[in-house]
Amino acid sequence: MKDKRPIAIAITVGIVLIALHFLIRTGGKSPWPKDRVKEDSSQRLVMGTFGRVIAVAGDSATALKSIEAAFEEIATVQKLMSYHKEDSQINNVNRNAYKAPVKVSERTFEVLQRSVEFSGITGGAFDITVGPMVDLWHSAGQRGSAPTEAQLQQARGKVGFQKLILDANEMTVRFAVDGMKLDLGGIAKGYAIDKAIEAMRNSGSLGGMVDIGGDIRCFAAPPPGKKRWRIALQDPGEVTATFGSVYLLTLGLAESAVATSGDYRRFVLVEGQKYSHIISPATSSTVKELSSVSIIAATAIEADALATAISVMGQEKGIALIESLENVEAILIPSGPTPQLIQTKGAKRYIEK
Ligand code: AMP
Ligand code: MG
Repeated sequence: MKDKRPIAIAITVGIVLIALHFLIRTGGKSPWPKDRVKEDSSQRLVMGTFGRVIAVAGDSATALKSIEAAFEEIATVQKLMSYHKEDSQINNVNRNAYKAPVKVSERTFEVLQRSVEFSGITGGAFDITVGPMVDLWHSAGQRGSAPTEAQLQQARGKVGFQKLILDANEMTVRFAVDGMKLDLGGIAKGYAIDKAIEAMRNSGSLGGMVDIGGDIRCFAAPPPGKKRWRIALQDPGEVTATFGSVYLLTLGLAESAVATSGDYRRFVLVEGQKYSHIISPATSSTVKELSSVSIIAATAIEADALATAISVMGQEKGIALIESLENVEAILIPSGPTPQLIQTKGAKRYIEK
């Protein structure tokens, strides 16, 4: 069928992204014939970072329509799940779920359920109830001095996915302990990317890519003449304040997602020392063993949650976990002056150079 009907390809680039870890390497030149390329001029800031959507469609109206659908989906997820927006659904949960069960939307409930699933898989390394610890480290950064042992201990009592009570029939959330707080920062971007891809498929795109702050998923038709979408992994040691980049390697992806967690762009500064924004729920301290964790998986939600989790688990346990999961690969860079790549056995098939 496909062979008989040559398809005119229209691509619309929605956003110029300043990627945190990855950049699509088209070198600024589009591989598509000029008359079939349409560029959307708007830049969109989404979920506190930059977002980019590329749609490949039979005509440019369809490409544009699916880009709009993708951004709409991302905005919906952000409205529900943002930790920073006072009126988000998750903050309503945070304010009220100890007093009584709080009803949430299907999307929010799905993310909560998946989060608990990832807590189980990762032995609690991934835990969205980490909110009280996130707050402590955030104020530490503002104050310029580390949290006290007493504060950290108190926070530990309010953290733990087992204290989160989900009722699938009623679609409600409850907290078992007063002062609990959910933070979906380690998974919401991945979920938003998956929903955006779904929206693009539903609105007629033949292929595409969604990138939120360097977490990326692509599907189907890559740029014509190319077998896969090419994505470059930045060298964390060479990231500059002006977002200059040195690439460590290039990945070739098709129908898959990649997400990176790293301490080199997002961190808290306390007494001149950098602390990661990722926290070990068991100890309430910030993690330091790995400078960058990239996970390749079929969906962005898996890649996102597992990248955060492996940052907590460290190299040995992290690699062992990823090796045990089917169709998931990891590329890690331990902290230290000289970047060194550690990868799972199957990661090689995605590395182009
Ligand atoms: P990411 O950049 O995807 O690794 O997400 C990091 C964000 O996830 C942090 O800024 C926190 O909001 C949240 N977070 C920190 N530690 C954890 C953890 N252990 N499990 C789940 N989310 C976390
Ligand atoms: Mg994550």
